[in-house]
Amino acid sequence: MKTFLSDHGYLTLGYHKVVSAERMLSEDLELAIDRERFRRQISFLRKTGYRFVTLSDLAVLKKSKAPGKYAAITFDDGSRDIFNHAFPVLRDFHAPATVFVITNFVGQDSFFPWDLEFQRQGKINLSREDTSMSWDELSQLVRDGWEIGSHTQSHPFLTEIPLSQAEKEISESKRILENTLEIRVTSFCYPAGYANLQLALLTEACGYECAVISFTSLRRPNGDISPEHGEYTINRVSVYRGDGMLKYFTKTIGLWEVLQSSALWTGVGVKILAQLRSVSQWIPMNKITRKTYEV
Ligand SMILES: [Zn+2]
Repeated sequence: MKTFLSDHGYLTLGYHKVVSAERMLSEDLELAIDRERFRRQISFLRKTGYRFVTLSDLAVLKKSKAPGKYAAITFDDGSRDIFNHAFPVLRDFHAPATVFVITNFVGQDSFFPWDLEFQRQGKINLSREDTSMSWDELSQLVRDGWEIGSHTQSHPFLTEIPLSQAEKEISESKRILENTLEIRVTSFCYPAGYANLQLALLTEACGYECAVISFTSLRRPNGDISPEHGEYTINRVSVYRGDGMLKYFTKTIGLWEVLQSSALWTGVGVKILAQLRSVSQWIPMNKITRKTYEV
């Protein structure tokens, strides 16, 4: 209930891909939303009084309990569709965002492993848009006020590798981004949300000022952050293709988490969710799959 009752002035949203409406219709892109839906979501936040800030700025505002409503839009993995579709929309709103990139992929032609798996399953047709943004494109985002954060060098599940290797992934990616883009890198995103207190402390020791998890991270047997660690376990609301405006609204006020929590812990929320769905057929139930949260 903490998020719903006290943190709703500071909203952190997690996206992966933003694609054209045509592509959304013709492919099975579970991690993406289409550009026009994204525009409606951003417009909704603006109309409801949110000011858009980078994640690092949000962390500072949150720490100082600054009054007002602030939203940090974040993107994981840094695929080029973010540059092609999300960037123009956010520019229209003069809204900065934060993108977490995987340094080994920046400027390369190689596809992300999970996308190759989706393609193997016949769900998506990969193109250049699905590869990582280039250094030049990242520089353009920086010039437009965006924040570039680290998502490691190679996207390993950090809880499943030796701590020394995790340290290298966390610190080297920061160094590479800082040296190449000539910026300070202060925000971090644990791949797939796999994190624990040891990793949160390590991220702090590596010089980051904040890091994001997602709601589901808290329930993972091997990704259990307990206790939470301040700015190094900033929770996010993840947005996926099935999120209509009503569901999006419940997510932005933290209600969705409360309902999910109830559903998972007591079973009561299942009934609430079923009720919610029955009164509004256009809200798809949130299909949480393990796969969804592993990118
Ligand atoms: Zn990722």
